[in-house]
Amino acid sequence: MSNQVLPLSVPSPAPYISVVIPVFNEEDNLSELGDRLMRTLSAMDRAFEIIFVDDGSTDRSWQLLSGLNRQHPQNIRALQFHRNFGQHQAIFAGFQAARGQVMVTLDADLQNPPEEIPRLVAKLEEGYDTVGGWRENRRDSVFRKFPSMLVNYVMSRVTGVKLRDYGCMLRAYRREVIDSINQCHESSSFIPALANLFSQKVAEIPVGHAERERGQSKYGLFKLLRLNFDLMTGFSNLPIHLVGFMGVAIALLGLFFGLFLFIRRIFVGPEVGGLFTLFAILFVFVGLNTLGLALIGEYVGRIYREVRQRPRYVIRQTLGPDS
Ligand code: UDP
Ligand code: MG
Repeated sequence: MSNQVLPLSVPSPAPYISVVIPVFNEEDNLSELGDRLMRTLSAMDRAFEIIFVDDGSTDRSWQLLSGLNRQHPQNIRALQFHRNFGQHQAIFAGFQAARGQVMVTLDADLQNPPEEIPRLVAKLEEGYDTVGGWRENRRDSVFRKFPSMLVNYVMSRVTGVKLRDYGCMLRAYRREVIDSINQCHESSSFIPALANLFSQKVAEIPVGHAERERGQSKYGLFKLLRLNFDLMTGFSNLPIHLVGFMGVAIALLGLFFGLFLFIRRIFVGPEVGGLFTLFAILFVFVGLNTLGLALIGEYVGRIYREVRQRPRYVIRQTLGPDS
């Protein structure tokens, strides 16, 4: 992966806020986004940087980002992927480059209003590790909202942190959380869920959501399915467990059926042709097979978890002579 950082003409002081924005073919939104971000962040009276990560755009996005960097060399940085690696990889790259104490992510398509950033940061400063936005009036189709409902439910169960809106990328994180995320080298991941693994105190505040006015959503049905599947398999072995349960259920069904046929044979006599007995036996074996598959899956899942090498724990503080 070669990514290029536009040089900052004057080394600027370490920023307090880093805003990280993944960009994939957003030429129609970037100048308005740049303006609104600059206006909002300048008003906050804190040193800030905005890091745009161009995720392999094929339109004029990169030219526009270079333009923004030339206009505001102190505050706007841009990285460029040489092909499309996906939204979450782009955010990872932005996190690696970010220098702030507080990190904010948002989408480039203006669906997340940049004007909400001060509220997120203020909430974070109340002592939270992560502050998520939840889209009170979400302006998306039912087709987009339904998978989100499912994800919110599963992720709340799996990570043990109940959030209303895992999909909202308008979020703020403390540096410590991002440092932990930076130690995760997995090729497919989902940042809000990952952040929760490393956050002790998580808050959620309602934020605005606008319709996408220009450009198209980058998530077609297939990409959405893949993202959600990544999420399920990346954070839990639930799918494998379900297969295992299914195997046990089928085997038991076959067993009971066989038992039923056996008893029936004693009282009523053999059934014609023995077809049902065959079915019963088949069921038992299909069930055992499925269970075996799930067991293998479980081990592969564990290997996968090891291979990902996520940090297994994060030490927040140490007291005593070593600290
Ligand atoms: N995005 C990206 N790489 C991708 C897909 C999307 O960087 O492969 C960016 C996109 O430019 C936008 C954000 O991720 O800033 C969210 O994408 P989009 O608005 O298309 O998603 P939706 O709002 O439909 O969920
Ligand atoms: Mg969008």
